[in-house]
This record gives sequence, structure tokens and C-alpha cells, in this order.
Amino acid sequence: MERKAALDKPDPTHQVCDLLLEGATVITLDEDHRVIEGGSVAIAGERIVAVGPSAQLVGYRASATRKVDCSGKVVIPGLTDGHTHLFQTLGRGMGDGLSLVPWLRRFMFPYAKTISGEMAVAAARLGALQACLSGTTTVVDNHYGPADTATTLAVADAIEGLGVRGAVARGIFGDPNRGGEIMGVAPELFQWTNDEELAITKACIDERPAGSRVEVWPGPENIVYVTPDLIAASAQLAADAGVRWHMHCSESASEIDFFESIHAIRPVAWLTREGLLSSRTTLAHAIWLDDDEVQAIGENRSTVVHNPISNQYLASGVIRLGALQAAGANVALGTDGIAVTGQDLFEAMKAGTLLQRVHHLDPTATTVEQFFEIAAVGGAVMTGLNGGTVESGRLADLVVLDVNDVRHSPWNRPVASVVHCGRASDVNMTIVGGDVIVEDGKSILVDEQEVRAVAAEATKRLIHEADLSGLTRGWFFPTGS
Ligand SMILES: [Zn+2]
Repeated sequence: MERKAALDKPDPTHQVCDLLLEGATVITLDEDHRVIEGGSVAIAGERIVAVGPSAQLVGYRASATRKVDCSGKVVIPGLTDGHTHLFQTLGRGMGDGLSLVPWLRRFMFPYAKTISGEMAVAAARLGALQACLSGTTTVVDNHYGPADTATTLAVADAIEGLGVRGAVARGIFGDPNRGGEIMGVAPELFQWTNDEELAITKACIDERPAGSRVEVWPGPENIVYVTPDLIAASAQLAADAGVRWHMHCSESASEIDFFESIHAIRPVAWLTREGLLSSRTTLAHAIWLDDDEVQAIGENRSTVVHNPISNQYLASGVIRLGALQAAGANVALGTDGIAVTGQDLFEAMKAGTLLQRVHHLDPTATTVEQFFEIAAVGGAVMTGLNGGTVESGRLADLVVLDVNDVRHSPWNRPVASVVHCGRASDVNMTIVGGDVIVEDGKSILVDEQEVRAVAAEATKRLIHEADLSGLTRGWFFPTGS
């Protein structure tokens, strides 16, 4: 994993902090992999200023505006959801039992072309609420329904309104094309020309430029159904603006066949040939890669966002995790939208750990430490944030877990307990940039009942308008096609 060097060193002569978390098990994910029992974390402004055994941080007690007794609790770095679709939140539980292309054609494309801006904001608020209650401090929201300027910016506002940071990767479709026909993409989604897509995305980035709490990134939606020149222009726009760019790529085996049938080259081989792989490139899924493609992603230090629950749900395939990491790729973790599962990275960490083991028939194929790093450090590298670990100088994006539960008893090995036994409901506090956004497992920024009620009302209208009631019936016999 890449880590930023030159962290600020704590200054023992100037022990001033705003918030002091005391007496916790601190899983630092630092270079030394320290797990500190009876540890404290001091936060001043948006940054961590000291981490260590509580006895070493007593000097901060006098200045701390607030001291939190974290005995029986665990402090971990905030987690990053590197690939999600918050606008899909209203479809929770729908579309089960379909593989990717039928799932898109019968469920998500009708949903995406029908959902209004108001409904999308209601969905984003509900999804971002679940994210922060689940210990996610950063989300990359691939938003494509609807992606006009006003709605894109309203979704970014909604995420920020929950206190979460991250990016809205604005979904770009552009000119209708052969790939869209083959994939069965709803024609309504190609509502803007390539030039219009770039202009809208640029206007959104101008409103939320690099360094914003929630940035806007170009998000050419899929390598199969966005034209090559628009993908290249999106990458250039990201480079010019100093932000990342994000795209679905090589998720299912059929997409490789579709792309090759049009372009006579594999998808990532094409990205490589066109010079489009860089550390700004963040690819969702990237499952179906040959050896050369794995090497190219690694050599260019690009990010692959692994979505283990989505990949199992849609039976898309198993990522070549070990090969990608060995090649130098940054791997982050994603949920891929609440319609598939939910904004719960604890579920994803565990699912990812176990999926590799059964796929390779080797229980040593992954470690819980590896997936913890993917969810925290991999996400920070992906988004370019100075976070992902509990170290002095880092952003104070932290999560406090209450592990006083039979699931965590006895408390023998903290990292394994958090990954294998942990749940989103363990989250007691979520802190972003030093601001407490979740306290006692509840958002302090929004009224949960109000967010849920507004989303429920929007869901009713959406199911009716998109004619999706067939996907809500009580007992469903999937046909798989
Ligand atoms: Zn996705």
C-alpha cells in the first residue's frame, strides 16, 4: 500500500486538542501495524495530533474540550466506500436473482431513466445516512440517475449534509453507440451529446472543485457503452481539474466479448494503449483481466474498487486480488449500491476475505488485515485523502465501535473480531475531519425518521412510475434471463 510520508510529529510541549478519545483498543493500521490496548487518540481541528497508550496522552486532558471514555470500545480509521450508487437506495431488496445484463435491463435501466431529481436526493440522503451509521466516512457515489447539473450538485449537498466526505462520480453516457445497443441500455439514458456531457460535468466540478468535502469527478459509466473519445476526454477533464475519474470496467465476462466485438481489443488493453491508466484512474470491478491487463493497472498505480458482495450477488466473477496487489495496483472496497446489498463495509470486508479463500481453495489466500487495509488505506489512496490510518497528522476520520457484545466475546484478537464478527450496528461514533457526525449510533445532523419517511414516499412513486411493482412481489422465482 502507498502511504504518505512525512506525517506531522506530535509536539509534547504543545499538548492541545479539541477531542480526546480515551481508553480504547486502537487499531491504527500504521506502518508498524500497532494495535494499542488502553489507547487514546487526540484530535485538534480536523486532524489527529497524537495516538498512543493513554498514559502518554494525559497531557492533552487539560485542554480537551471534550473527553470520551472509550473503554470497551475500539477506534478504527474511517472506511471508504469506493463504489456505490446512492440513487439506487429506493430499490432495496428488488432485482434479486438476476445476472448483470438482465438486472440492468429489467430493473436498473427502467429505474434510472424514471427516477426524478427529488427522488434521487431522497435516495442519496437515505444511503448516506446508512453509510455514516455504518462507519463509512468517505463515499464515491457513481451517480447516473438523473445527472443534470442541479441534481448532481444536490446529491453532493445531500452527502455533505450527512457529514460524509467523498466524491460524486457523475455518470456520463453521451452519444448513443453500438455498445449501448448490445448491452440493452435504455435509450433515454443517452440524453446528452458527448460535448454536453463534458460541459455539464465541468460545470459541476467548477462548483465542487478538487479539495471540496464532496468533489465531483467525471464518471464515464461503462467502458462498453461510452464512446472511446468521450472516455478519453473524461480522463483529460479529470487531469485538468486535479480530480480522479471513475468507470465500470470488465465486470462480467460478457462485457469483454461485447467490447472486443466492437473494438477488437480487450477493455483494459485499450485503456493501456490509449495512455488512460494513471493514479487518477479508478475502475469499478475490473474482474475479467488477463495477465497483461493486471500488470498495466499495477504499473500505472491505478485503483481497482473491489465489490465482493455485488460480485457474488450478480455472479459476476472473482477479482484477481493477489495478482493486482502484487503488480502494484491500489485496491479499494465498495458496496456497489444499496439495491444490491447496503452501505455496509463490514459485510464487504468479511465477504471479500472469504470469497478469495473459497475461490482459491486456500484459507491463506487472504487475511483480515489485508481487507481492513483495503477498506481504509486503499480508499484513502483512491481518493487522495491524507487518511486511512490512525496516526498523528492524518485527517481525523475515525470510527468508534462498541464491542461490548456477545458476538465479540471473548475479546482475543481485535482485528479478526472486527472483520469476522463486526457489524455496522457496532458503530457508536463516526467522526469526519474532527466533527462527530454519529453519536450513540445515531446521526446528529439529520432526523432519521424524516429521512426514511421521505424516501419511502419517493419509493412508492418511483415503483409506480417505472412500472417495477413486479419486482416487489412476495415470492419470486427468478428465470435468470
Ligand atoms: Zn456499480
